[in-house]
Order: sequence, then structure tokens, then C-alpha cells
Amino acid sequence: MTHRGDDPWAALVWRMVADQIVSRGITEPRVLDAMRSVKRPLFVPEAERARAYEDGPLSIGRGQTISQPYIVALMTELARLDPGSRVLEVGTGSGYQTAVLAACAREVFTVELEPELSARAARTLSAAGVTNVRLRTGDGSLGWPEEAPFDAILVTAAAADVPPALLDQLGLGSRLVIPLGTTSQNLYVFTREAGGIRRESVIPVRFVPLR
Ligand code: SAH
Repeated sequence: MTHRGDDPWAALVWRMVADQIVSRGITEPRVLDAMRSVKRPLFVPEAERARAYEDGPLSIGRGQTISQPYIVALMTELARLDPGSRVLEVGTGSGYQTAVLAACAREVFTVELEPELSARAARTLSAAGVTNVRLRTGDGSLGWPEEAPFDAILVTAAAADVPPALLDQLGLGSRLVIPLGTTSQNLYVFTREAGGIRRESVIPVRFVPLR
């Protein structure tokens, strides 16, 4: 938990959660606690740090971005995690979404295509004291077959279509949260049910492309 007294960012993080996240309808206490306890400035490049709690994405280098706080909270809530969940994330980027997932679940497996970003995220997560994460560099659209099935899968880059390997690695009752589309994108939730896969569209979004 955040101790408001010894954290210079505490006032900003509480305001961010109230104004950007609770106000937009996120209610899951575990998600709100994670958004308050993970220190977003650690995951933002030095030059952008003063803007860490702004209501939007920020550049993290290599043409990539750290997602807007609200989108991180929304995707985490849509994943319906519990303390026993094992989660796959595709697109580690800064590692910020990874840390929020790690605060809500038992173990997070995260895959990043760019070696430089993956190495930096590993250092940041370790500096932030996050230990229940395993990182891999490579094409996350193939998932992490050795660790499947997962209780939830989150993809933080937009694909034209759902990578079939990710649906294959979804356990029964589990949820895949993924932005889909090219010129315009929507966030989708795919749920594996006994009768097949159910698909729901959530909101329009804007993510960097899955490569
Ligand atoms: N969750 C991240 C978002 C990073 S942006 C954060 O909040 O910081 C999306 C990331 O997906 C980028 O780092 C990009 O390099 C990565 N990416 C794109 N295609 C990928 C692929 N096929 N496999 C794994 N990572 C991919």
C-alpha cells in the first residue's frame, strides 16, 4: 500500500485515480489499489517524469508508448484477475501494465519484441520490487505455450485479427483482452466458454501496432 507521507507523488496518484479512473467507472478495489501503489514515474523516461500522471500515453522510446492510466486500469479490470491468477501479457513496453497486473495476480508472463525495451523493463520492475514476473524477448503473438493455459491474456498493441495461438492458450472461463483494428481500433474481450468463444466490443482505443 502507498504511505501518503513518504511519497512525493502520493497526492498526484490519488488525484489521478479519482479523476481519471474512478470517475470513468472502474470500481474493482484490487485494480484501484494497484493503480495507487505502482509508481508510474519509475516506468516513464526521465524527461517525461513530470507528466507521469497525465491523462494520456507517453513516449518510452523506440517509437513505443506507455499506455494511458485509464486504459491500463480498464484492461486490468476486464481481465477479472484474482490473487491466484496466472496472466500472459503481450507487449511489455515500459513494464507499467506488467506491474499493475503483478499487483493483482499470482504470476505474470510478459513478452516484448524489442530487446532494448525488455531489458529496460526488467530493470525497472526489479527496482520497483516486483518479483512475480517472468520476461521474455520475442514475438508475443505466439504466446508462451510452455506456460499455457492462462487465466487471462492481455495484449497492449493492436492487431488486425486475433492471433490464433493466444486463443489456444486461453483456459476455460478465461479472458483475452485485446485491441483490434488498423485505421480505427476497438478494445475486445474474448471469453473461452464451454460452448466456444464469446466476443464483446468494449470501447474505441488507440494503440501502437502489434508487429
Ligand atoms: N503495456 C505497455 C505498452 C507498450 S506499447 C506499457 O504500458 O508500457 C506496446 C508494446 O508492444 C511495444 O513495446 C512494442 O514493442 C510491443 N510489441 C509490438 N509487437 C509485438 C509482438 N509481436 N510481440 C511482443 N511485443 C510486441
